[in-house]
Amino acid sequence: MDRRGLGSTLSRFPARLGHSTTYIRFLFVSEAMSSNSETVVDHRPLVIAGTGISGLTAAIYAARSNNDPLVLEGDEPGGQLTLTTEVENYPGFPDGISGPELINKMKAQAEQFGAETKNGILESVEPEGEGTDRQFRITLNNGDVYTADAVIAASGASARTLDIPGQQELMGYGLSTCATCDGAFFRDEKIMVIGGGDAAMEEAHFLTKFASKVYLVHRREEFRAEDVWIDRIMDKVEAGEIEIMRNTEAIELHGSREEGVDSVTLVEHPEGHPTAKLDDPETEEFEFDVGAVFYAIGHTPNTGYLEGTGVETDEEGYLQTEGGKGGNQTATGVDGLFGAGDVVDFHYQQAVTAAGMGCQAAMDADAYLEDLERSRGKAAAAGGETAAAESDD
Ligand code: NAP
Repeated sequence: MDRRGLGSTLSRFPARLGHSTTYIRFLFVSEAMSSNSETVVDHRPLVIAGTGISGLTAAIYAARSNNDPLVLEGDEPGGQLTLTTEVENYPGFPDGISGPELINKMKAQAEQFGAETKNGILESVEPEGEGTDRQFRITLNNGDVYTADAVIAASGASARTLDIPGQQELMGYGLSTCATCDGAFFRDEKIMVIGGGDAAMEEAHFLTKFASKVYLVHRREEFRAEDVWIDRIMDKVEAGEIEIMRNTEAIELHGSREEGVDSVTLVEHPEGHPTAKLDDPETEEFEFDVGAVFYAIGHTPNTGYLEGTGVETDEEGYLQTEGGKGGNQTATGVDGLFGAGDVVDFHYQQAVTAAGMGCQAAMDADAYLEDLERSRGKAAAAGGETAAAESDD
């Protein structure tokens, strides 16, 4: 029932293929350029990995620049925003807009300009060829291969988990990483939310709709969340709908797939981070009965499919891009590969910043594609002159 905890956005696409009228032209180009023998389904100037807000913004810009983008959609079509209820801080919507509605509007806008979206599990992206022959080979898990001159990685990030006993068995059976998806299953239950950032606040607040009471468990005293969220939570605390458990961490989940979650073993230390102080006499361990647990402890970027490119990531796995001022800020160290949104941004992680980066990536990719086209034009002209000179001889 939960979708966020199931793994990489792009590693679980239900594969489905249709095809476009450009099939024959691109098949010819791709087979000529591809070093491998599998049939190439299509060649595009630009493939965009991800249909979250960043990928869709990139698609709008790329389609308007005539770069004929193919946008690959994972098992979380629309990305994290589709798991959000109300988006109140996206400019232009003074009364707020639901996450799915915002995504649907952006998708329609991208398609209106000619972007094509497709489902498919993206397995690998590999650069091949040199100079004017350079392109990317993009393999889906059903064996279909696409080639592209440039790729924008906008594959987002997946929910982090705690890796504690009971987790594997109970994920999807009372343990979840998505309140919007799963909250309604736990009406009148005591529900625990773990985390101290905006997501934890939003989820705890949302879950008060269903829970007999929400218990917000955070590993230290101070919350990371914005003041506006903390204020909303404090109102719910006063109303008796939420209880905050500070300086507390979960170390084991109890229950069964048949009955769901029963209880959680918690540890508490007055100075926070109790799991780092298990032997400290001030650390207290206790059992706490709840009917469901929601993790809201941040996300891990989805970059596994990019391994073959040799692209650089930081120690948390976020894609490294040029950054700085001027153009090409979204370029990675791999020519023709650009990064945008939560797969790059460990800091802002906002819908509007992800959209901004999607726009930047599409503009950077466009500049790259224009350079490539110019080089190919020159190479073709030089090849033509050589052939003409040889035929004169
Ligand atoms: P986050 O800001 O990184 O917060 C993660 C929280 O989980 C932190 O409080 C962290 O504790 C805790 N945590 C991390 N690892 C843990 C572990 N192993 N055990 C226990 N606790 C752990 O992530 P987020 O809340 O998902 O937010 C991500 C971004 O999205 C942020 O920029 C946020 O502003 C944005 N966002 C905005 C909204 C909104 O405004 N509507 C909603 C959701 C998210 P520490 O604080 O101790 O590190």
